[in-house]
Amino acid sequence: MNDVSCESCGMPIESGHYCDYCVDADGNLQDFDTRFATMVAWQARRSPDAPREQVEAETRAYLATMPAWRNHPRLVGNA
Ligand SMILES: [Zn+2]
Repeated sequence: MNDVSCESCGMPIESGHYCDYCVDADGNLQDFDTRFATMVAWQARRSPDAPREQVEAETRAYLATMPAWRNHPRLVGNA
């Protein structure tokens, strides 16, 4: 009975909207650039041989599926 996931990164969480990685010290969702940079770093670790452009494109595509970011101006109208 625990299928809550972070609305920013998709990580399983106990409750609430966001995991500890996605919020600042006050519990507010981090801004897009902070989150994007962190997730690009995660993705780059998973795919160490992938070019930076591909890693960033994959991260953008992933964030576009997240409730917290899918309508974000940095993801919408970027085509
Ligand atoms: Zn998260």
